This record gives sequence, C-alpha cells and structure tokens, in this order.
Amino acid sequence: MDTIKEHIEKVKSGEINLAEFEAEVLEKAARIQEKYAPFITIPDKISFSKNGALAGVPVAVKDNLCTKDMRTTAGSKILESYMPPFDATPVALSRSEGAGIIGKTAMDEFGFGTFSTNCAYGVPKNPFDQSRSCGGSSGGAACAVAAADFPIVSIAESTGGSITCPAAFTGTVGITPTYGLVSRWGLIDYANSLDKVGTIAKSVYDAALLLSTIAGRDEKDSTSLNIPKTDYTQFVGKDCKGMRIGIPKEYFSEAVDARIAKQVRKAADLLEGEGIVCEEVSLPSTDLAIPTYYIISMSEASTNLAKFSGLRYGLQVELEGSIQEYFSKVRTMGFGEEAKRRIILGTFMRMAGYRNKYYLKALKVRRKIINEFKSVFSNYDALLAPSMPILPPKFSEIEKLEPAQIYSMDVLTVAPNLAGMPTISMPFGTVDGLPVGVQLIADHLNEGKLIALASFIEAVK
Ligand code: GLN
Repeated sequence: MDTIKEHIEKVKSGEINLAEFEAEVLEKAARIQEKYAPFITIPDKISFSKNGALAGVPVAVKDNLCTKDMRTTAGSKILESYMPPFDATPVALSRSEGAGIIGKTAMDEFGFGTFSTNCAYGVPKNPFDQSRSCGGSSGGAACAVAAADFPIVSIAESTGGSITCPAAFTGTVGITPTYGLVSRWGLIDYANSLDKVGTIAKSVYDAALLLSTIAGRDEKDSTSLNIPKTDYTQFVGKDCKGMRIGIPKEYFSEAVDARIAKQVRKAADLLEGEGIVCEEVSLPSTDLAIPTYYIISMSEASTNLAKFSGLRYGLQVELEGSIQEYFSKVRTMGFGEEAKRRIILGTFMRMAGYRNKYYLKALKVRRKIINEFKSVFSNYDALLAPSMPILPPKFSEIEKLEPAQIYSMDVLTVAPNLAGMPTISMPFGTVDGLPVGVQLIADHLNEGKLIALASFIEAVK
C-alpha cells in the first residue's frame, strides 16, 4: 500500500487515475462497512482533485462536521434527515486541497461516550478483534483508518478524549490540537469551550499533513486562533535531542492496566537512550479532572441541545397537543438514553441554587488544572503517559458498566482537554494482540514538538 505521500505524488504525476481510484476505494469502503461498520453514510461518488496538498486523498469525516449535501447526523436520530447546505471549515479546506470525502463516520450520539456504543446508526467494530470496541466517540473515524488497505485520513473531534481513545484502541495516530487551532465552524457542538477538531491517521506524517490543511484562523469562528499557516510535516523527523519529558506519576495509578504502564516506560527508555531527558513529575489535581470535566461538558451540552426541539432544528413529527407536548415528543423520540441523561444532569448543575456549587466551582478547578500544566511546562517540553487505562474492551464487558464507571475511563484524557492543550496518541506495541496507545501532551501551540517526538518514537520503536 502506498503511503499518503507516495499516493499524492502518483496522483500529481498522473500515475494514479483518479476515476479508477475512486471506483476502487468506494468498493473497498463498502466492504469495510460490511465487516466493521465505521460509516454512517458513504456517498455515491467522491470528488477528488489532482491538485493541492491532499490531491486525491480519501478523507473520512466524523459525522458531527457538516458536509454540503451529505447527510450529517452527529450520530443522533434527532438529526436523521439533516442535509447541511454548507461544508464545515475543516471539510471545505480539505476539499480545496484536492481531498475527497469518502464517508461520514460513526460516533457516540453528539460525542457522548467513550466506546462508540451510544450510536444511533450502528456500532463500529475493532479491526483487531470484532468483539471489541474501537473507542469513542470518534470510533468510526479511527476504525476506517485502521481497517482500510488504501491511503486514507480522518477528520475527527475531541471534547474530552474522543481522538486519543479511539486512536489508542485501533493502533492509529491521533492529533488533538490546541483549542482554537482548527475552526469549529460547521461543527455540531458538544461543549463549546472544549471541542477541538483534529486528525486520525495511519502515521504521524499523515496526521500532521491533514492538520496542516485544516488548521488556521477562520473569521467565522471567533475562538479560532490567529497564527500563521504552518506546515506541520516539517517537524516529522526533527531532532529531539536535549528535549525534556515529564512522566506524570498520577497517570500511572492503579486504574491503569500494568501491561499498558509497562509499554509507556519502554517508550521512555527508548527516548532516554537517544539523549532525551525523562523525569517523573506531578500533576496533583489529576483526580479532580473527571468531575470537573463532566460538570462543565454536561452543562454546556444541555444548553447546546436545547435547540433540537423540532421547530427550527431536529426531527419533525406530526403537530398535535400543546407546543410543550410537541417539544417533549420530539425530544423523547429523537434523543438516546445518554443524551437524555446529560441534558438532565447538565440542566441540574447550572440551575439557580446549584450553579455555585457545581458549575462555577468546576470552572475554578479547571483553572487550577491549567495552572498545574503550565507550571510543569515551564520545565519540560512534553509529558509522556498512557493514552487509555485499559485495552479495547469487549462489547459484552461494556454492557455491564454503569455510566460513572464509563466516565472514569477518561481519567487520562480529560485533563489535557480541559486545559486546551495539544496531545498526540500513537501506537506503541501490543498486549495480547491488542494495540497499546501512548500519548504525549505539550503546552499550547506546541504541536511541532509533539510531532517531532512522536515521529522519532515511530521511527525507532
Ligand atoms: N468520553 C468523553 C465524554 O463522553 C469524551 C467524549 C468526547 O471527547 N467527545 O464526554
């Protein structure tokens, strides 16, 4: 199989005929779909172009990013027939560089989940073992990359770990960029202060290439950062000697599978062998990250979902009874169980009388978590930790878990997400034939360091 880089060269030189390639990948996508179900929608045709930085590259897009004239559901029944009249900015940027959209990928409804099991349109299955989860919520985006035997990259999105988790479970590379690096225009929000659009790919280079295309200031998203256009592939293979890595001790608690922790220590040894300093550091508020994250994310989600009432947005049903009865019918039919749980909890936590106790307190703890990261990064270039505390679980095991047990699985990913800091998750060996992910975390806008370090590990592992 060609790497993305080789593929693009062949497309540009004319060695690959794009019409033939399109027919081939559409057929392959249908086959992958039958086996692993990564997609919610596969189009009838893909419009590739011979020109641009992503010439002829198939891009899978998480189904919470709007695609013009291509159904966009955010994994929810309430948006079953939503046909956006526009492309989300990251999608538009990819198309303008020659990429074509190969499909919209399965996800937990609105991003609410860790295993892509809260899906209204089918649950993606792990290509390493079909009885196991691909992780979530960008499970389909990771599954498509892992299952495909052709060049492909995915545009994914993370609120609290939805890129790192599925990347780790499927043996792929996931970049969650700094909050604001990629425009959120055209993204169906989960929690606005946390949502970040990022990339999932087969290699660090591929993930960096797609990031270079989708990153950048967008007038349509006032939170997007005004930084110069960067080619992130320039950091692939860059010398890392002399860099200082912190290993946060709280990321190796009892909750973390010892076999995963061992792999991370192996990665640290490897870095040390190459003249990179690795030292233990402490992020004492790590155990506060889960409640803080779930209070903030549910509070924001409950307000975001208010617009899906069947009036302007969301499912429309036959009009009968009072307007309240109508709204209630639409929302009862359209939202899944986890969405309902989060609407109720989120509304409670920002209600008069409880707002100070929960929501406002969580904002203060978030600040504390950010300050702890900032202080560590005044001494270290990056942090190294496991991506997930567990190996990809079996669906039969997930069924037995309570919601709070599922939330606790995000213990290693929510803190960097709360801090809006960039992370990269990459595969590092296997345990019992299942992939292990390690993550690197850096200070705001230090994606370059992460890419340099990850590409170094990728090359020597
Ligand atoms: N598992 C986390 C949640 O359910 C994170 C999901 C995400 O990043 N969208 O909120």
